[in-house]
Amino acid sequence: MSEQKENFETKAIRTQTERSQHHEHAVPLYLTSSFVFDDAEHARALFADEVSGNIYTRYSNPNNNEFIEKLCLLEGAEDGIATASGMAAMFCSMAALLKSGDHVLASRSVFGSTHQILNALFPRFGIEHTYADIDDTASWESKIKPNTKMIFVETPSNPALDLLDLQWLGDLAKKHNLILNVDNCFATPYLQNPIKWGAHIVTHSATKYIDGQGRVIAGAIVGKKELIKEIRFFARHTGPSLSPFNGWILSKSLETLAVRMDRHCQNALQLATFLETQSLVVKVKYPFLPSHPQHTLAKKQMRLGGGIVTFEIAGGIDNGRKFLNALKMISHSANLGDTRSIATHPASTTHSKLSDAERLAVGISPGLIRISVGLETIEDIIEDVKQAIIATGA
Ligand SMILES: *Cc1c(COP(=O)(O)O)cnc(C)c1O
Repeated sequence: MSEQKENFETKAIRTQTERSQHHEHAVPLYLTSSFVFDDAEHARALFADEVSGNIYTRYSNPNNNEFIEKLCLLEGAEDGIATASGMAAMFCSMAALLKSGDHVLASRSVFGSTHQILNALFPRFGIEHTYADIDDTASWESKIKPNTKMIFVETPSNPALDLLDLQWLGDLAKKHNLILNVDNCFATPYLQNPIKWGAHIVTHSATKYIDGQGRVIAGAIVGKKELIKEIRFFARHTGPSLSPFNGWILSKSLETLAVRMDRHCQNALQLATFLETQSLVVKVKYPFLPSHPQHTLAKKQMRLGGGIVTFEIAGGIDNGRKFLNALKMISHSANLGDTRSIATHPASTTHSKLSDAERLAVGISPGLIRISVGLETIEDIIEDVKQAIIATGA
């Protein structure tokens, strides 16, 4: 994976919007809804797409452009757009490229709101889907239909941390002439570049590790120029644009993505290694633990194992709740990718509306706990988890 990783930090730090007449060092905030034209001819040429430039912040803005230009460099993408949320990115990346009568082959292990788009919203517009299971990749090809247009996946999956082989998916998409759309939120461009393996579109919830400090809701879509052109048209006229304030935050955050991810991954591996020694913990899942069933694949397509660790606490749902209530430092919240460690019990919260069977199909057992491992001192993270585990056995 070396070539796109080259000078990752320099690209993330030194890609910058042109300086203003004030010679500022850090990029200023361009809080403006519109931009002025040089003259009538300039206005005409901008609207006719004959020259590039900013017209109106719903279309583009220097802060959002800088954020997206960096993300394209980091993902190895030709072009991209920033969106107001991760879900706006997921929705636009599909809705802009699909029409009534089309079919999507989707991994069953996708984000909850992505399920709602596929299950509840797209059928209204005549767009259908079939789910395929991560642990049954042999069946995926047979689920491709003559009207299939797109494959939509997440890897690693949330919260089960199962992986899909991106090279295999890239080949499958190519063979059947399908658009491969990968939600790369969990891995971030620092750990994994789906485009390298044949993805045409990479989507992000920038709310998570790209912000990294739990401040803003944002998303991004990057990929092939001709596809982004369609998505840009869709977004320009439907309006899911990112606030330039948030674009400014995110561009700054990308400057520290590499160092933050290095530490998230180091802390996560240490926590996972500790959990494997605990008798009240039944199963620990982390892509870079040798015990992960897809450890070899993780090493092939990911630089490091990511910041999320899941484990199964003995005693099911009741002990899962006890564990969360016993935590002293680690936050109980639904977000992830923050500097602060966050614990979630999917069976009683994010995935509580599913049946037991539906939960098990996506790897969520009753006692499963997900920890988004933050950047606190690792000894303090481990100490808090340890005392909460002991509390469940009392
Ligand atoms: C959070 C998340 C989303 C949704 O992003 P928002 O920014 O909350 O809209 C989509 N996909 C994954 C994998 C996520 O974790």
